Amino acid sequence: MSSYKRVLIKLSGEGLANKEKHLAIDYELVQKFAKQLKIILEKGIEVAIVVGGGNFWRGTSAAKNGIQRVRADYIGMLATTMNALALQSGFENNDLQSRVLSSLTMDPKVCEVYINEKAKKYLRDGEVVIFAGGTGRPFFTTDTASTLFASEINADAILMGKNNVDGVYDSDPKFNAKATKFSVITYDELLEKDLKVMDQTAASMAKDNNIDIIIFDINEKDALLRAIENKIPNTIITKSKEK
Ligand code: UDP
Repeated sequence: MSSYKRVLIKLSGEGLANKEKHLAIDYELVQKFAKQLKIILEKGIEVAIVVGGGNFWRGTSAAKNGIQRVRADYIGMLATTMNALALQSGFENNDLQSRVLSSLTMDPKVCEVYINEKAKKYLRDGEVVIFAGGTGRPFFTTDTASTLFASEINADAILMGKNNVDGVYDSDPKFNAKATKFSVITYDELLEKDLKVMDQTAASMAKDNNIDIIIFDINEKDALLRAIENKIPNTIITKSKEK
């Protein structure tokens, strides 16, 4: 049984893609997410999602190719909005009610503008809230958007699904067979050791707002369901191990 009442799930754009099938968005995967989320909602847990855009666009890479950084980042934010709408559509096909709330003001025919009270009402009503557009500002990532929104909606934890990595290691397990995984690590340790699991702004904000982040592999079977119940290999990043 999960102790969480309200969680925020971070889905990276890359995690939505299927490289083998050359799909920017793997709809079968979206369907699997929808089925798990329905079970999670039935348990009385409220779910918000922050979705990335890396399957379509990353501001930093585009800037390297000569596109002005601020503009490149706005394109990235639009990419997250495309993913949010695709998720919503996939959820609807599975009778899962969801709302897309965007940090960027979009035409109301496309999606709603983010207002904190509205987001919390939808969550209380048992709808999945998908946050689009990241923080709405350049030079940030959707990891930072996750900690920002988790703070704003008072989420109990952030579930951060990673692509083929099941936690935080002391060195990169892809290159070092002896790399060891932390079961729990503090934000101070993470920042001090400069472990590249999320960007530093996101880590500092999560620390300041005392929000735990659970890192797990999004490709595992029933990953969301098992992550909520702490039944998946993971690392918990926390402010203090004493809690
Ligand atoms: N982005 C931004 N501000 C934000 C969130 C995202 O400018 O608050 C832009 C940025 O260019 C980023 C892109 O959107 O590279 C996609 O987001 P992110 O890289 O976080 O996606 P993910 O890696 O999770 O798929």
